[in-house]
Amino acid sequence: MSKVVFGVDLGGTTVKMGYFSPEGELIEKWEIPTIKDNGGSQILPDIAASIKSKMAEKNISKEDVIGVGIGVPGPVSSDGVIYKAANLGWGVFSVKSEMEQLLDGIPAMAGNDANVAALGEMWCGGGKGYNNMVAVTLGTGVGGGIIVNGKILTGGTGSGGEIGHIHVDDNETETCGCGKKGCLEQYTSATGVTRLANIRLKKDDKPSQLRNGEVNSKTVWDAVKVGDSVAIDVANTFGEYLGKGLACVADVVNPEIFVIGGGVSKAGEVLIDYLKPSYTKYVFHGSKETKFALAKLGNDAGIYGAAKLVLDK
Ligand SMILES: [Zn+2]
Repeated sequence: MSKVVFGVDLGGTTVKMGYFSPEGELIEKWEIPTIKDNGGSQILPDIAASIKSKMAEKNISKEDVIGVGIGVPGPVSSDGVIYKAANLGWGVFSVKSEMEQLLDGIPAMAGNDANVAALGEMWCGGGKGYNNMVAVTLGTGVGGGIIVNGKILTGGTGSGGEIGHIHVDDNETETCGCGKKGCLEQYTSATGVTRLANIRLKKDDKPSQLRNGEVNSKTVWDAVKVGDSVAIDVANTFGEYLGKGLACVADVVNPEIFVIGGGVSKAGEVLIDYLKPSYTKYVFHGSKETKFALAKLGNDAGIYGAAKLVLDK
């Protein structure tokens, strides 16, 4: 039996798991529910039990396992300590140490889920072949993961890469989920795009196919692709904000590539066309040539990155 590495992506409703060859081949993946009873105390034992039963089923010995990596929805320090995961009921403790104990000494590593997903995209997805990458996730909110010289930038309390809360508008009156006003997330998440579209539609009576049905990120981008001028206004505003926010990131990090994922990115390359003019306008000249690509691994990015976390240890 050749060596394998396990990757675990712990989410609020399901735990995604998989095991890989050290070269990045996904051999098998599966899911178990996240049982959050009793302050989330059963979550790690459930994960460990599932891994052990998979090892028994596939005849994988303890010696064949390089380690188990886990992405967790909360800030995690580089030595595997979580600083509270509110939606799991977790306080502050070492996820790494507890996993190692539950797995009878198999090495474990833990990281923040968004950062770990970024590492996955760099290993086997849209950022493959690069060493300095920023992942941007345009989902319900906007998340990010920053990788510098092949390593995740966790920061002092694991809060590095919070791209969604970069301030991009001084005149915003609505409050972001984080309590501030004018965050990038308010314009470029799926809900942000919908909000921009509704604001634009109210501005005048210009005809648009968006007036005939549901307004959401998908219908906006679909309308952009058929030349709907109101939707194009929305895309321009979206692109102006995203380009500006990413220019700020680039001025600090100087990545070789931005990899854009999340629900909004399903619009495809068109999204990159709209953010680039603004990016080029605002960024320092040294980062003008930074590349943009779409994420490739979808919901599997987390398990890939968790596995890579162990391999990089
Ligand atoms: Zn915010």
